[in-house]
Amino acid sequence: MPDFSTAMKTASDIYRGLEAHWNEAKGGIYRPSYSAEETQAMDLIAREAHAMGMKISMDVAGNAHMIYPGKDRTRPMLMIGSHVDAVPAGGRYDGTAGVVAGMAALKHLHESGQQPEQDVCITIFRGEESAWFGMSCMGSKFITGDLSREFLKAAKHKETGKTLAHHMDFCGLDSRDLADKLDAGKVFPLKRIGNYIEVHIEQGPALLEAQKSLGIVTAIRGHVRYPDKITFNGEAAHSGSTPQAMRKDAAIAASVFVSDWVRSMKDLADHDDLVYSVPDIHVVNPSSTTVPAQCVVQPEVRTTSQRILDYVPELTKTHFLRTINEFKLPDGELTSPVIGKPATMEISLQDALESSANRLGFSSMRLPSGAGHDAGILANAGIPCGMLFIRHGQNGISHNAEEILGLDPQDNPFRQGSDFCNAVAVLADLMTQDLNRNGRMFFKPFDFVPA
Ligand SMILES: [Zn+2]
Repeated sequence: MPDFSTAMKTASDIYRGLEAHWNEAKGGIYRPSYSAEETQAMDLIAREAHAMGMKISMDVAGNAHMIYPGKDRTRPMLMIGSHVDAVPAGGRYDGTAGVVAGMAALKHLHESGQQPEQDVCITIFRGEESAWFGMSCMGSKFITGDLSREFLKAAKHKETGKTLAHHMDFCGLDSRDLADKLDAGKVFPLKRIGNYIEVHIEQGPALLEAQKSLGIVTAIRGHVRYPDKITFNGEAAHSGSTPQAMRKDAAIAASVFVSDWVRSMKDLADHDDLVYSVPDIHVVNPSSTTVPAQCVVQPEVRTTSQRILDYVPELTKTHFLRTINEFKLPDGELTSPVIGKPATMEISLQDALESSANRLGFSSMRLPSGAGHDAGILANAGIPCGMLFIRHGQNGISHNAEEILGLDPQDNPFRQGSDFCNAVAVLADLMTQDLNRNGRMFFKPFDFVPA
């Protein structure tokens, strides 16, 4: 295993800079999507890229692309990316670890006089966290055309109430130019991307439990959600004097719905990849002496199986109608679910990641990703994608200020032999391979137009 001390120093230097966004009053990292803080973090990383002579540009959606030239510039590039925005009171490593790992791997090659086979582009996608504008992976969805011009004005910031367009312009971007390019389908030349690899902390305990350093993602789970919730309408009545048979108790009906629904999900989970929860269940205007008139529930499912995603809305409807009937409720409202497609990671990249890890002597295992990532958006746009998860301590806690990168809070994650260092070594190894089995491009390396 080569010496990665220079690469690890680069990583810890960048993280020292990112510490500026630790906000004691807000209770963690404060770096909203399309904010000045997010831009500052991108700038900090771009400085490191500039020092290595990389070509730095920003697309019209505000994503940063930093290109290190490869031996053969006619090959489509290897894009390595993730995000730097954070959920409110977020942790230090969600998103940033992937970008910093890419920079550290390049630093290692740069310092040891090696050149990547194809151009390597370190990309920082904007606005990955849905916590701020109610939409995840905005930066990657803009370049794949999954978001349209209307979204720029429709999406509102959860704290300021202002539109996404407003916040983009505040960041020095041109939301009107983006709107025009979205219409014309000319935000980004996707053909330029040969492969996309995203390194990310696991955000879960699977690698810790299996005692594996790295995870090779097989697929990113899709989801069925009910953002507008499901409502059961009963009838308010005195909870002491109303005969049982005459009650139309919305809360009891909703509880039975949830328990039946959960039993069905459990059956499905016995045979296929599936996790489920009910993020919200509450009585509207509760009173301790009133039979509840209205109860709201919000089920959620995540799975890599398209079959299950198609089946869950139907099953939910069946349970909903049966419950209304059984409890003789006046009515209820079954809102439309939002369905996010699962994304499969490219088999050849899974194999390449695994053989690199094996060759370097790191333990790894294949696993699905429960959380959504920019890699899922690009994969569904037809770009070969791979994801590498890093094990991290405290039960893999994430979206939380307590998030750590090492195995324990006292650990230095930026040392030779750490799980983070292992991920960097795998990336560096991949960069020196020709990953483009599909041949070459017939055009010159693309120069991005800065926003
Ligand atoms: Zn993330």
